[in-house]
Amino acid sequence: MTERNGGGRGEDRYNATDATERRGDEGTFREEAMAESIGAGSPEDVGQSTYAAGDSVRQTVGIGRSTESGSYTFPAFDDHHPPEKDLIDDCVHCGFCLPTCPTYVLFGEEMDSPRGRIYLMNKGLTEEPMNDQMVRHFDLCLGCMACVTACPSGVQYDKLIEATRGQVERRYERSAEDKAFREMIFQLFPYPNRLRLAAGPMRLYQRLGIRDRLRKSGVMNRIPSRLRAMEALLPDVPKEEKVPEVTPAVGEKRARVGVLLGCVQRVFFSPVNAATVRVLAAEGCEVVAPKQGCCGALSTHAGREEESLNFARKTIDTFENEDLDYFVINAAGCGSTMKEYGYLLRDDPEYAERAKAFSEKVRDVSEFLQQLGPRAERHPLPVTAAYHDACHLAHAQGVRQQPRQTLKQIPGMQVKEIREAEVCCGSAGIYNMVEPEPAEELGERKAKNILATGARMIVTSNPGCMLQIQASLKRMGHDELPMAHPMEVLDASLRGEPVETLLR
Ligand code: SF4
Ligand code: SF4
Repeated sequence: MTERNGGGRGEDRYNATDATERRGDEGTFREEAMAESIGAGSPEDVGQSTYAAGDSVRQTVGIGRSTESGSYTFPAFDDHHPPEKDLIDDCVHCGFCLPTCPTYVLFGEEMDSPRGRIYLMNKGLTEEPMNDQMVRHFDLCLGCMACVTACPSGVQYDKLIEATRGQVERRYERSAEDKAFREMIFQLFPYPNRLRLAAGPMRLYQRLGIRDRLRKSGVMNRIPSRLRAMEALLPDVPKEEKVPEVTPAVGEKRARVGVLLGCVQRVFFSPVNAATVRVLAAEGCEVVAPKQGCCGALSTHAGREEESLNFARKTIDTFENEDLDYFVINAAGCGSTMKEYGYLLRDDPEYAERAKAFSEKVRDVSEFLQQLGPRAERHPLPVTAAYHDACHLAHAQGVRQQPRQTLKQIPGMQVKEIREAEVCCGSAGIYNMVEPEPAEELGERKAKNILATGARMIVTSNPGCMLQIQASLKRMGHDELPMAHPMEVLDASLRGEPVETLLR
């Protein structure tokens, strides 16, 4: 039975607490319940003692934001792909995932940890309604998958949260303001032509100095935090560098590959695409970049199931008949979703097999290059770079060594590791726009750790991370630190450019 209640929270057992309930000496009501459920004597026994957040985040998350609708739906999940009970039961509540979970690190709240969220999913299958508090804990998850890497029991939290988000988007009534903001994001970001239209006025806004004047006048501090966060993330919009539909291999052809151009990547980071194509061609690949749309990553990670599946189907249609050996992806979030197409389209009789075959050929660009082996001559680039692991590359795809290896194969290049590398920078798809306060805390934490390396530049493989880290460094007065994608670095080396090109 499904029941919707627009007014109260009825029998919600968390009714007496708010979504950001603080832990006192004896733990919150929820933590006590959690401790009891896993057979621990008290919340103190549940391994809560990781490095917890400053009060600033605890006090700001969710406060003053009208994301709550006051509705609840019982039971929380229907039978269209609920979080699977078998996967939930894989969690043995050991807590090894807690120190790597950014929201647990920030809030120190059990229900904002992977273990807590899995507990809520289990409750939602039969006992608990989907209500504001439950959704808040799911919304606060960045989907970074650090817990997947950390979990010794192989819990597939990625599948669990994806299923949960799909249920939330279908069954939970968000507030009108929240719905409108999310809709605006999804009517803009997956559509490069709309982004291009928006990029024109953005360039003027930046070049005419309006941005600086508004910031200095203090006007920006008076606009809603989500819009302020979007504005702060806005990069300098470069002139778009287009890539040809077909680029021939240099020398003997080793493979024919398709490249995904991405949406944000294509409009705001087009030099990354141009560099990727040049590198692949220099390494002996014929590169195909047909007219293409969004791969569906942003929608998939936000639980917009139908929309994401339509994007996936169209991407398969676009590339399928190009007779490609591999699909090469230079944006971490896009690559992880395309590797999942087989799973996402498993119910679709027309696409299930095709999607599976497609996914098997998807490679991150550094993963592909290491598989192929270097052939073109690398020229020296004497520089120290801090390499930032994008979560959807390191945690979701398990690609950690290949980008480092790609950089280390360049003579003179030194790669520095960043402390707390496994903790997300706060970008996480649309997270830094819909949850700006925790995203800012995580961004600044990451920026501090990057600065501590003393590196002269940052290298990372995801446009979202680039925007987030750039914005964080800027807020902290360090926007002088240059940033590049591994393919831009390798391209500079292959072309024999001076290192200053990267440091400008
Ligand atoms: S998700 Fe894995 S690491 Fe975390 S509590 Fe469950 S079993 Fe332990
Ligand atoms: S995906 Fe990231 S934020 Fe979400 S529970 Fe796992 S570690 Fe925490």
